Amino acid sequence: MVWQLSITITLLERMTKPRLIYLPFGGAGEIGMNMYVYGYGSQDREQFIVVDAGVLFPDMETAPGVDLIIPDYSWLVERKSQVEAIFITHGHLDHLGAISFLNGELDVPVYAREFSRQIALDRIDEYGGNQSRFHTVDIYPDKITAGPFEVSYVPISHSIPESSSLIIDTPDGRVIHTGDFKLDHEPVIGEPFEEELWEEICSEKILALICDSTNALTPGKARSEASIGTNLDQLIQECEGMVIATTFASHIARIYQIAQAAELCGRNVVLLGRAMNRLVSHAIDVGILEDLPNQVSIGQARNLPRNSLLVLATGSQGEGRAATAQLSTGGSFKGLRVKRGDTVIYSSKTIPGNEVAISKIQNRFAELGVNIIDESSGLYHVSGHPNKTDLEKLHKLVLPNLVIPMHGEYRHLKMHAEIAIDAGFNAIVAPNGSMVELLGGKLLDSEKEQIGRLCIDGNDIVGFESDTIKERLRMAHNGLVSIFLSRKSGRFNREGIIVQCSGLNSDAFEEFQKELISMILTKLSQSTKQQLAHESKLKDILGKATRKLCLDFYNKKPVIQIAIR
Ligand SMILES: [Zn+2]
Ligand SMILES: [Zn+2]
Repeated sequence: MVWQLSITITLLERMTKPRLIYLPFGGAGEIGMNMYVYGYGSQDREQFIVVDAGVLFPDMETAPGVDLIIPDYSWLVERKSQVEAIFITHGHLDHLGAISFLNGELDVPVYAREFSRQIALDRIDEYGGNQSRFHTVDIYPDKITAGPFEVSYVPISHSIPESSSLIIDTPDGRVIHTGDFKLDHEPVIGEPFEEELWEEICSEKILALICDSTNALTPGKARSEASIGTNLDQLIQECEGMVIATTFASHIARIYQIAQAAELCGRNVVLLGRAMNRLVSHAIDVGILEDLPNQVSIGQARNLPRNSLLVLATGSQGEGRAATAQLSTGGSFKGLRVKRGDTVIYSSKTIPGNEVAISKIQNRFAELGVNIIDESSGLYHVSGHPNKTDLEKLHKLVLPNLVIPMHGEYRHLKMHAEIAIDAGFNAIVAPNGSMVELLGGKLLDSEKEQIGRLCIDGNDIVGFESDTIKERLRMAHNGLVSIFLSRKSGRFNREGIIVQCSGLNSDAFEEFQKELISMILTKLSQSTKQQLAHESKLKDILGKATRKLCLDFYNKKPVIQIAIR
């Protein structure tokens, strides 16, 4: 009796005592679709804030035909009355690309700095949502109160302006969510990493540091953005013909450095591609950039000598419809055309998964006699994330009770945790769906079953593991066989059978069709009256037999569709 009472009291205590939790929805297990939730309150009554709402770009291997992959936020929607606000750390799409979908479901304010807010509003224009919920934030020491949380934006260097770490003050103590960052004292455009400011912020005890892990496997220190300036100057100076430089449209510092290099050797700068034009104009509008040196319009560029042009183009990741891909066809794009002796510079890293698309485009340039300069030398691109030594430095500066690696594949998270543990810190690897109680650093029950991925598929949102995607994958790999059966005067006969195949060797179709129809007729004649009258039983019999025939005939397992009338 006494022990029963004590168990009940312990349970009650656990239910009512407030707790501070961290729950990653995306980004802790992949590089992409970042979304992290913090909660404070008694169990199941927590109030939540969401940090970032990003996308992952799908590949043909896992989600053919899908437009975007986003974290499955239904867990949050089920608890929507407990959600207080969404905070966006910076403007990269892996952090705000899914904001439209979340913003449509959760009626809460969305906070971001002005440049990021502009990019978020572009997403709302494209995918829908409620623009009035978006608010511009000021930086630290300003704070926003959201339920039991007080959140401040601390500027930090990265590969896009206005990137920020978040200080999340809670009744249990201070948490720091780094967002994407690097320790760059010379970021060219945007705010540098300010060590003294961080010392001030961390003068009080830090409960947990939730920290970028992208480059945890890369030894040493990350190089500064400014370190490639002279390399770009020299390279562009030596180029003959037209120069095409491609980088991420949001990398304003890189765009600026390339434009400066162009100015140095008297080249005119043309921006090519929608995203490039839009982001540069946002940067000018919000005062990040005064202007781009030597910029001319595409109309003016057409009338200038080709060797006086530097084209800054979108499409560094091999995007099929972007400006770089268009130029690589050799045809005229917006009145510009590449020629033998021109140079294309990839001032960007290849995001894993995009290698094939990029090399396809580079091969086309090579065939046209265009020189290709890629990032392999390390001279024309630096990463926007911290390397191992930078992580060690930040851990020592922050001195947190607990390090939780985020923003990385599992191997990055694991290595980041090892770096922290080796230096004497506590660290927890918490992949997507793993809830952590931050005070005391405990991994709680997993929510993995409920937190997966969603696919944005045309006008629909479907589950990543749904039959739609599984069937599409099977069709992509194995083709499709469709059988239509119709009765005439209540009976099946040869004329009532139509067979169609897609994605299977069409030269063999006639023979396959003959065999399939004869098999169907045999099966129909062997079926009992009862089986013939029962549609699902009949589909079952024919399905099995068709599957076997496909395996014998094609050695393939296509998707089989049977319709009976
Ligand atoms: Zn990121
Ligand atoms: Zn980023």
